[in-house]
Amino acid sequence: MERKLASVVVIDDLQPIPGADLIAVATVKGWKLVVKKEEFRIGDLAVYCEIDAFLPEKPEFEFLRKSSFRKMGEQNGFRLKTMKLRGQISQGLLLPVTVLNGYAYTLGEDVSARLGIVKYEPPVPASLAGMAKGSFPSFIPKTDEERIQNLSAEYDAYKKESFYVTEKLDGSSATFYYRDGDFGVCSRNLDLLETGNNTFWKIARQLELPAKMASLGKNMALQGELIGEGIQGNPYGIKGQTVRFFNAFDIDAYAYLTLPALREMTGQLGLELVPVLDTAFTLPDTVDQLLLAAEGASALSPAGKHVEREGLVVRSADKRISFKVISNKFLLNEK
Ligand code: ATP
Ligand code: MN
Ligand code: MN
Repeated sequence: MERKLASVVVIDDLQPIPGADLIAVATVKGWKLVVKKEEFRIGDLAVYCEIDAFLPEKPEFEFLRKSSFRKMGEQNGFRLKTMKLRGQISQGLLLPVTVLNGYAYTLGEDVSARLGIVKYEPPVPASLAGMAKGSFPSFIPKTDEERIQNLSAEYDAYKKESFYVTEKLDGSSATFYYRDGDFGVCSRNLDLLETGNNTFWKIARQLELPAKMASLGKNMALQGELIGEGIQGNPYGIKGQTVRFFNAFDIDAYAYLTLPALREMTGQLGLELVPVLDTAFTLPDTVDQLLLAAEGASALSPAGKHVEREGLVVRSADKRISFKVISNKFLLNEK
């Protein structure tokens, strides 16, 4: 699932911002962003660039230099981040379709490559980057989650469903698998070689995952978030590292286990789940209300300290529906 960092959209709404004459707030799907007042009308087509888009140094994007210039490795560009302007949250950028120079686009089309836009990726320490044994195994799904802002068309239908909610931890995605006698360790995108300095493998050994997973007597993958020292600034103040699990995947059946089955398995193996916040959750009226509900203290906040959680992962019992709701408070604090 690749993110559409820049795509052709319809402007769903435009509203004034109290006390601001020159700017307005636009709604695009579940996103809100600040635009110049006279630049767009409701119903206009435009190119919407999501947060984390990294725009190239081209004349048409120079206006972003002051707010957004960033280096990504050797590459110069402009990184879009969550901002607050005149008290209004603003996420992403709207460009007039003329930026496509007459290209015959279709609604919804991903135009990031055409504009030279890529995803901003912060530098990854060597202990987490690792060395590839191979690409991510094709017999296990990756751990990506879609953002609720991109599912606004489905939101009303989702209101009929009951969900379980876990805290989204800010670490690094880890997948461990046992298949036909082979044990493997993967980061978000790679099957990893066991090397001396690799944190994923170190923790797999520390948690005795090779033996524990073999004891299941089944081809299985366990997926979780690696957190602790050296990872994302260790917001939870953990000593060393650990993994909190959020998925068990039955490889032969090509199916996720339910939350109760995952809970039972991790309990039996002496492993920990991500914090489970609710098991019978129904969606509030609007995406904006859900975004507010995502804000709050992490269940892993150290005693006496408020650590703003990254957000929530919301899933139906069968995992047919699954998405993330990132806290805007968390995003506003992002470096
Ligand atoms: P994006 O592609 O949207 O820029 P990303 O690829 O960095 O973001 P994340 O925003 O980190 O992905 O969201 C998906 C990740 O969330 C999963 O890969 C998983 O590692 C992590 N995660 C943390 N906590 C949970 C949880 N409770 N349930 C599911 N996934 C979780
Ligand atoms: Mn992703
Ligand atoms: Mn993450």
